[in-house]
Amino acid sequence: MRISDELRQRATVSFEFFPPKDEIGFWDLYVTIEKLKPLAPSFVSVTWGAGGSTRRKTVELVARIRSDMRIEALAHITCAASSRRDIAAVADDLRARGLENILALRGDPPAGRTAFQSQADGFAHANELVEFLKDRHDFCIGGACHPETHPEASSPDMDLDFLARKVDAGCDYLVSQLFFDNQVFYRFRDRAAARGIHVPIIAGIMPILSVGQIKRFTELCGASIPRELLEKVEAVEDDVDAVRQLGMYHATEQCRDLLDNDAAGIHFYTLNRSTATRAIYQQIKARVDARAAHAAPADP
Ligand code: FAD
Repeated sequence: MRISDELRQRATVSFEFFPPKDEIGFWDLYVTIEKLKPLAPSFVSVTWGAGGSTRRKTVELVARIRSDMRIEALAHITCAASSRRDIAAVADDLRARGLENILALRGDPPAGRTAFQSQADGFAHANELVEFLKDRHDFCIGGACHPETHPEASSPDMDLDFLARKVDAGCDYLVSQLFFDNQVFYRFRDRAAARGIHVPIIAGIMPILSVGQIKRFTELCGASIPRELLEKVEAVEDDVDAVRQLGMYHATEQCRDLLDNDAAGIHFYTLNRSTATRAIYQQIKARVDARAAHAAPADP
């Protein structure tokens, strides 16, 4: 199933996982996925470790989720630590295993490094990777976008110009970096449309489950936490349950509003856990179903 086809039918709901470090982590992840499966996600995705560290695990995991667990799965592929030959081999492997969807990214630098460095015979930016993958196989390709501007971009307009170039290279849809203020997402979507970017934009959502963790994540990716929300969670910082309740409530309200305002889909950054995502999904299910019911009928 191509994600672009799914996006034409309904607001997608998708879950992102990362490849665990060891066997116990894999068993835990399979349990998490089994718990999320009844929610009938449009697709799940598996990240490509920073610095290209999880290449083999990513491919094995997506193939297994798709063939054994019968859930549409896509691999993230990044430019990190990979030559064109390495990427070609991974793309051929994925295609041979019947996978049709890829999320193509530049990648984060490996732990301990601040700047991204491309391989000599590799790709420096995601648009080059998208073009290469599109030429090699008929993949449905997603790309990342950054509603609050990528931290390395020289300006929001330049970032948008490069995003337009990436879409022109062959992105069928975009998945956004996490954000906590929907107005930021709507303004970005309007600016993207004005710049001629008309592919569906899926909203990336991460419920706040720990104050320290979310501060680290937002600092890394350049997302901001609205002051009012930050003050609320900081006020109960030492009470794990209270932080989770606030974080889940905020994420649920975000998802409701996004579905009411035509977001193309919701992509949950699950951190390999299922409880918060399931609880939020129960609250938004009626809206997801309503969006599917109003979608245009499928092509014959
Ligand atoms: P690009 O589109 O290449 O943009 C990166 C920067 O370069 C931007 O500042 C942009 O303005 C600029 N730029 C773009 N094109 C050009 C050009 N042609 N010339 C000059 N400048 C240019 N990271 C991982 O390591 N593994 C993952 O699995 C992973 N999954 C992710 C999933 C999602 C949904 C998102 C939103 C991010 C994910 N990331 C992942 C993080 C991502 O790799 C980083 O945010 C990275 O810093 C940027 O990736 P990009 O694909 O947006 O890069």
